[in-house]
Amino acid sequence: MSTDPNKWVAGHVATLPKSGIRDFFDLVAKMKGQDVISLGVGEPDFVTPWRVREAAIYALEQGKTYYTANLGLLELRRAISKYVAEHFGVEYRPDDQVLVTVGVSEAVDLAFRAFCNPGDKVMFHQPCYVSYHPSVTLVHGTGIAVPTYAKDNFALTAEALRAAWQPGAKILMLNLPCNPTGGTCTREQLEKIAEFCREKDLLVLSDEIYSELTFDGVHTSIASLPGMAERTVFLHGFSKAFAMTGWRIGYACGPAVLVDAMMKVHQYSMMCASIISQEAALEALTHGWDDVCRMREQYHRRRDLVVRRFNEIGLKCHSPRGSFYAFPNVTATGLDEKQFAVELLEKEKVAVVPGQAFGENGAGHVRACFATSYEQLIDACDRMERFVGAKR
Ligand code: PLP
Repeated sequence: MSTDPNKWVAGHVATLPKSGIRDFFDLVAKMKGQDVISLGVGEPDFVTPWRVREAAIYALEQGKTYYTANLGLLELRRAISKYVAEHFGVEYRPDDQVLVTVGVSEAVDLAFRAFCNPGDKVMFHQPCYVSYHPSVTLVHGTGIAVPTYAKDNFALTAEALRAAWQPGAKILMLNLPCNPTGGTCTREQLEKIAEFCREKDLLVLSDEIYSELTFDGVHTSIASLPGMAERTVFLHGFSKAFAMTGWRIGYACGPAVLVDAMMKVHQYSMMCASIISQEAALEALTHGWDDVCRMREQYHRRRDLVVRRFNEIGLKCHSPRGSFYAFPNVTATGLDEKQFAVELLEKEKVAVVPGQAFGENGAGHVRACFATSYEQLIDACDRMERFVGAKR
């Protein structure tokens, strides 16, 4: 008897939209071997520094091939605690306030599963990282998008939060600096947001994965502001600043009760992050800071290049204060962001991501990741100049 396997897929999963990024990369994949310059994938072009890879090899040589504690290796949790205290000004106890996860991706998923009851409302700024809204949908929560705008350099404002707030809002998901806009908040803006969160009794999930890649000013963690550590879960990882995407390693820090709730979910799903990656992460945290600074310098130089060139070409682009993404407005070409991305790929073989992939407020923009070599970026900008010129 033949049967339709679709009937076994849960309804809320069947209706989950396909990521706009994936959609676009299917198109890019079809052009393999055609000299495409990809400004698409949000991934460092640097290989993980050698000392970190060596630490992983050494762990294997020592026969470290087993599970670790659910929370992660104590030595790594101690290093995380020290690093977060030194770099973000927040103290977390390694014993019960730090959880090592399989990337920030797992930490985000755990947080929503641990804190969201069906019907709970989660606020997040938009444009935003593609996984937040689907992760909320997967736990039967409701997302509330709070728009950010190019005129504010895509900083989230307390005014926008207040305007979007609805009764029943329980969580605010923050990502500063932001993927895809590179926008972040000044300390003053963050203080107003913190005040709003206290007033509305919101739990804050703060994904600070790009914080080390802050080019202008100093990064401030909302968790470090008065009265905020007790209502914030700080999410961070190694993928971006430490160039460790493939290692799948991140962490969550927060009030012990909240970390324990996330741990409960984690122990029945992932159990623990890979011990090899944990050993590598320990090396990265304890001896890898110079590498982070070296890579950040390169990203900074590249940011200045693409922002200058995009504006010269006529693609209005604010200067992202952090991350490795530029988010230019492409409407001057007479194309919408999808048409722009598809035609640019077909005609000049440069891949960028249409801004709508990051929510409807990304309309009119594309995301260009500058985590690729300076020479490639010059080539990509030349090609874009030719493309935009031909549209005039
Ligand atoms: N959070 C943001 C804002 C991201 O941009 C990404 C990856 O692009 C992630 C989380 C996922 O990070 P990880 O590789 O640590 O799972």
